[in-house]
Amino acid sequence: MSKLLIGTAGIPISTEARSSQAGIKRLRELGLGCMEMEFVRSVQMKEPTAKKVKEVALDEEISLTVHAPYYVNLNSHEDEKVLASKERILKAARIGFIAGASSVTFHAAFYHTDDRDEVYQNVKRSLMDIRQILDDEGNTIQLRPETTGAPSQFGTVPEIVRLSREIPGVFPCVDFSHLHARSNGEYNTYEEFNNVLEYLRAELGQVALEQLHMHISGIDYGAKGEKKHLALEESDMAYQEVLKALIDNGVGGWLICESPELENDALLLMETYLRLLNPQR
Ligand SMILES: [Zn+2]
Repeated sequence: MSKLLIGTAGIPISTEARSSQAGIKRLRELGLGCMEMEFVRSVQMKEPTAKKVKEVALDEEISLTVHAPYYVNLNSHEDEKVLASKERILKAARIGFIAGASSVTFHAAFYHTDDRDEVYQNVKRSLMDIRQILDDEGNTIQLRPETTGAPSQFGTVPEIVRLSREIPGVFPCVDFSHLHARSNGEYNTYEEFNNVLEYLRAELGQVALEQLHMHISGIDYGAKGEKKHLALEESDMAYQEVLKALIDNGVGGWLICESPELENDALLLMETYLRLLNPQR
């Protein structure tokens, strides 16, 4: 069975010093397995810090992922905004790679009123450019467009899977809470989660499930999709059903908890996961 690491989106709340290195040490104390570095406003980390982060993460056996800035739109009608978006993803990927992160996720684009296939082709073209640049630099970080939380955003499961099929070095980031919010309440049963994972297996192979980058949190939503993240127990998110589906499909990789309760909910996820895995414990 492939290993599933559970961790936090950013530095745990209970970390005394507000640094990635202290956050990694705190995750180890808590018994969690991974941390996503949240470069969501901008990439502030510099190369020397990234190198130290890599050392600490290796010492503490904490696996790292990256969330690139939110201000990305690979389907902008303004060329300079597309260029700036590509630069933001590249910057996050470069610093992430120096820090030893395996994967960088991002929200790829907005549809506007454009034809869906045109949007897809625009995103694909930019991602191929980004991949090529990183490959030329010897940067093997995985590019992970994320399933997004609002119907105005590019990022359905089929769109993300199609990019992953068509561009080597691109893989899915599945945000289960976004699927739930985007559909205004669907995707909240074992059967629906299982269908998503079976679709990934059919399209990308079991290997994609064995190393999957995922997000989860409680979530508030409406007709326009995601409103805000909530603590798991304060939401209707059926996280136990997600975990059952992950176990039954042999899913490994990184499950990042994005709830405002960060490590408390990551620990809740891990305890629940272990209990479901070994019911007699
Ligand atoms: Zn995200």
